[in-house]
Formats: sequence, structure tokens, C-alpha cells
Amino acid sequence: MSNEYDAVIIGGGIIGSAIAYEMAKSGKNVLCVEKNLTAGSGSTSNSCAIIRTHYSTLSGAALAKSNYYYWENWSEYLEAPNNEELALYREVGCLFTCFEKNQYGAKLEEIANKIDIPYEVWTPEKMKKKLPIINPGHFHPPKTVEDSNFGSQNGEMRYVLFFPRAGYVNDPMFATQNIQRAAERKSATFMFGTKITDIIKNNGRVTGVILDTGEQINAPIVVNASGPHSYKINELAGVTKGMNIGTKALRVEVAHVPSPEGFNFETNGYICSDDDISGYWRPEVGNKILIGHHENEVDPSEWVDPDDYNTEVTDQARLQALRAAQRFPGMGIPNNVQGIADLYDASDDWIPIYDKSDLQGFYMAVGTSGNQFKNAPVAGMMMNALIDYVEAGNDHDKKPLQFKLPNVDYDLDMSFCSRKREINRESSFSVVG
Ligand SMILES: Cc1cc2nc3c(=O)[nH]c(=O)nc-3n(C[C@H](O)[C@H](O)[C@H](O)COP(=O)(O)OP(=O)(O)OC[C@H]3O[C@@H](n4cnc5c(N)ncnc54)[C@H](O)[C@@H]3O)c2cc1C
Repeated sequence: MSNEYDAVIIGGGIIGSAIAYEMAKSGKNVLCVEKNLTAGSGSTSNSCAIIRTHYSTLSGAALAKSNYYYWENWSEYLEAPNNEELALYREVGCLFTCFEKNQYGAKLEEIANKIDIPYEVWTPEKMKKKLPIINPGHFHPPKTVEDSNFGSQNGEMRYVLFFPRAGYVNDPMFATQNIQRAAERKSATFMFGTKITDIIKNNGRVTGVILDTGEQINAPIVVNASGPHSYKINELAGVTKGMNIGTKALRVEVAHVPSPEGFNFETNGYICSDDDISGYWRPEVGNKILIGHHENEVDPSEWVDPDDYNTEVTDQARLQALRAAQRFPGMGIPNNVQGIADLYDASDDWIPIYDKSDLQGFYMAVGTSGNQFKNAPVAGMMMNALIDYVEAGNDHDKKPLQFKLPNVDYDLDMSFCSRKREINRESSFSVVG
């Protein structure tokens, strides 16, 4: 195997694989190094893989709308041969609960109207008609189970927003492997079971990486797409001082609870960003309801070392299930709530960093904050365009690349994703982004 490449990508998750695909498509000789044995087996493997277009910022929503097309047209995006087996995108639609704290969804409606994202307003009556097992009650603010007011209802929600163009991907790891194959068809190389242990620099420029085999790979471009390890790789490269926005590994849990008896949630359920109960939910195989968490003022955030954390679910998954039982009163809670525990690579404002660094040739696609699985196809395109822009001598920090997003009439000012940006106060500061 060669040890000279145009670029090395650290991490074969959905983001690193999508970057490898775009760089290879544009003719670069690229190597993607993944310490695990397959693509997508890091935090991507446990992603809930929800594809939605509502975000708290206009740029975030435009980016998601741009990506939506590729999930709908997955085979076309991959330029896949007819007989190739592919991950499936299942469109079920996504609800968004509206109440005082989120100004009854006014910001989302404004954004949706600006960039033509279709949505409907559902009353509690319509909600019950569409999803008979639902209680459209209003439960905010979130409480701990010890709180004697846990489960107390404060009337009903006035309405929810329904975004029909939303769904989820059945197997996020397999979707990543689809991208890996697509990248390999364009001559990208993937190396598995090998860890990058050091970044080599010379005269203010990155010149390659060192592998845990002791081998050296030379490349004038290195991209950090290492997911929850992003801050460790940035430290290795010595680029954290030049960043205004940091990243950290946040441990989260997702519960999988059987649907109320007699109702097929797997085929008739919806997805919901349900901040009213501090969570999100979607259909899960085996007629289950998958229940995630929204960051809030009562549950402590669990920042961890990505090389040393508890991979078992705890009482946190149970708490999420109990909160969801407010929404689905017929849902039984098993003694042992099942689910998964994994990590977000959370940025300070829950918006990703797709950027260069202060070390020439070293780039980063990090801080994906629990909400960038859906954005991987266009993140790959943006990173490839950014690398071309910077390597052509442009000063991206002073004159940021304006990236024309495909499939939506919107030029994304990439300073939105800059490591040097001020905290974006428009963000939800949660997994909603
Ligand atoms: C529980 C959960 C639910 C989520 N739900 C959604 C959702 O519904 N919708 C959505 O859009 N997003 C969601 N996300 C977020 C989304 O999954 C992530 O943003 C995305 O998968 C991140 O991809 P990545 O490639 O950056 O990271 P990863 O998949 O973690 O990939 C990084 C890779 O780098 C490798 N690596 C690290 N260090 C090294 C090294 N030194 N050398 C070589 N390899 C290295 C790791 O092994 C890993 O495979 C969720 C995330 C989680 C954890």
C-alpha cells in the first residue's frame, strides 16, 4: 500500500466517509483511516438517523433541506449499480410540539416559509385522529421522577407543527458503508483497524500522520472527522488555541420501549421533536417506540472521556421512558428498559464546525452535536469545496466561502460553521440544533 496521498481523513463515520467520497469524486487520491473494523461503527452506528428539515437557524434548516433530497434519492447520490443493496429511508413525517418556551414554534414557521419547507398545523383533535394513542397534554417544564409533580399535566398543547418531509434511515452503519463503497468506486482507499496516533507538521503545515503500526503516511491535507474523539485529535494537531468554539464528548441514552398494546407504532407512528416532555421519539423495529433526550435545566449533562465511559443504559433511559409515558399513557414500562448509550461530539452551541484550522492543510468536520447524520452528504461536498478554496490561496477566515447549497435556493455563508465564530444565540442549545 502507498504511503503518499493527497489527503488523509481521520475517521470512517458517516461524515468522514462522505468527505472521502466527495474528495475522491473531485479526483483527489484520498485515504480514510478508521480505528474500528468497519465504516460507520463509531457513534454513527447508534444514531437514531432521523432525517428532518426543522432547525432553529435558517442556515441549519437550509442545510438539512439540501440533504433531504439525497436521502430520498440515495441510489442516485451514491451512483450505485442497480443490484447494490442499500440502506432504506422511511418517510413518516415529524411533529414538533409547540408551547410558550419555544414561542409556539413561530421561529420554525418563519424559517419554513422562507425556504419553502412544507408543514401543517395540527390541533389536539387532529393529533388524536392521526395518532389515537397520544395524549396531547402540556407537561413542560421537565421534572425528575423524585419531584412530586412528575407527570402533572397543565392543560393541552394548542397545536403542533407537522413536517411531512421527514423520516429515518433504517440502518445508519449500513448507510455509511454504502458511502464507503461509493467512495471506493471513485478510487478512495479505506484502512480499517488502524488508529492515527500523531499528526506530523513541518513549518506551520501538516505533512502527514503516524499510525499505531508505527507507519507514516504523507499527505499535505489531513481532515479531522473523528466524531467524539475530535477534541483529542485537535489537541494532537495543536489547533485548539485557534478555536473559539470547542467540542466535547457527551454521553447520551436512547430507550426502546414496546408500543401500547393493540397499536402498531412501527407502521403507524410518527417522529416527534417533543421538547414539551424533554425528548424525541420515533418508530423502532419490533413495534417499539424509540425515545431520545432533549437537554434541559434539570438533567445533568454527562461529559465523558470518549475512551472511557459506560456503554450500558442506566436509570436515564428509564426516566426518558417515563416522560414519554406522559405522551403515551397506554405504554407499559418494562422493569429493564432497553436501549443504547453512545456519544455526541457536542460543540459549544450545538452547531457543527466544518472548517480549516490555524495549521495549514489541517481541516475539521467536528462538533456534529447529535444532529448531523442527516447532513453528511452535503457536509462532504462543503468540506471538499472548502479545501479547494483554501488550498487555492483564499483566506476563508476573512472572506468565508459562500457555498451554494444544492436542492435549495440558499448560499450558505460558511462562517456559520467556523471554529472562530461567536456562540450562535439562535441555536436551540440542544440536539435539535
Ligand atoms: C444516540 C445518537 C442519536 C443520534 N440521532 C441522530 C438523528 O436522529 N439524526 C441526525 O441527523 N443525527 C443524529 N445523531 C448524530 C449523528 O449520528 C452524528 O452527528 C454522526 O453520526 C457523526 O458522524 P461522525 O462521522 O462525525 O462520527 P463517528 O461516527 O463517531 O465517526 C468517527 C470515527 O472516527 C474514528 N476515530 C476516532 N479517533 C480515531 C483515530 N485516532 N484514528 C482512526 N479513527 C479514529 C472512530 O472510531 C469513529 O468511527 C445521533 C447521535 C447519537 C450518538
